[in-house]
Amino acid sequence: MRVGLIDVDGHNFPNLPLMKISAYHKSRGDSVEWYEPLFSGHMDKVYMSKVFTFTPDYPYCINANEVIKGGTGYSYPDGGEELPEEIEHIYPDYQLYKDTFPDTAYGFLTRGCPRGCDFCIVGKKEGRCARKVADLSEFWNGQKNIVLLDANMFACKEWKDLSVQLIESGAWVDFSQGCDIRLMTDEKAEYIKRMKIKQVHFAWDRYEDKEKIVPQFKRFKEITQWDYRKLGVYVLCNFNTTFEQDLDRVYTLRELGYNPYVMLYEKDKLPAKHRLKLLQRWVNNRIIFRSCKRFEEYDGRK
Ligand code: SF4
Repeated sequence: MRVGLIDVDGHNFPNLPLMKISAYHKSRGDSVEWYEPLFSGHMDKVYMSKVFTFTPDYPYCINANEVIKGGTGYSYPDGGEELPEEIEHIYPDYQLYKDTFPDTAYGFLTRGCPRGCDFCIVGKKEGRCARKVADLSEFWNGQKNIVLLDANMFACKEWKDLSVQLIESGAWVDFSQGCDIRLMTDEKAEYIKRMKIKQVHFAWDRYEDKEKIVPQFKRFKEITQWDYRKLGVYVLCNFNTTFEQDLDRVYTLRELGYNPYVMLYEKDKLPAKHRLKLLQRWVNNRIIFRSCKRFEEYDGRK
């Protein structure tokens, strides 16, 4: 069987479902390739995967007996269909992205998140409970880097077992979706400290969490002794906070020794010169943010 793959979002980040689908078909003796509208000719099956809602759909005709579309980009706001079990748990075909993302393993150790943040689809898609779905060996086989796609691994009751697997791998670990500072304990921080991590990031989305979250940030830093270059915090703005609250979160995080990173909700709906966009430019440029201490002194034109 001839199978074609289309990563509708482009090739800027490896598409895990396509890597699993590829592995599955190759294990059955099928031929698998990226679908090229001008060169591929007729295919038996073409899979199209789209993760992001903002990516435009694939614009070309597809010459195939069957076309299967999947991914949050097609199903949002519903969760969409899951991959069949035998594909979901297969070792991914990393050959697909080996040139752009070498020596890196991708996968989920857990699925789900107990929180139901209004702007996030994870609860609807994966359920409101973080549960273990795999051991590391399911998708890692000695690669130098591990990129975890878990929404909230430290909310899972097996976090310790999974942390030990990550520590023992000796690989660089990237919690690409961040860690939940509200669930951090001394013990969890100690385990994170023992992992090989270039940068960990958290999120501070709800301003009203300030009283609880600030001591958690302090404690995590005391335990790890990491400096701000290793400690990032996403600050969601333009959702339900005031500008003063946004600034307060940014200043507070800097004082605590963390590196804030402003994320703008529905950024494309804001006018070009909106002050939140200026705030984002100021905070997210590390050099400017460290040299210009106050937002009021920042002139975005320079
Ligand atoms: S904590 Fe993170 S993953 Fe969980 S619902 Fe909120 S934004 Fe989504």
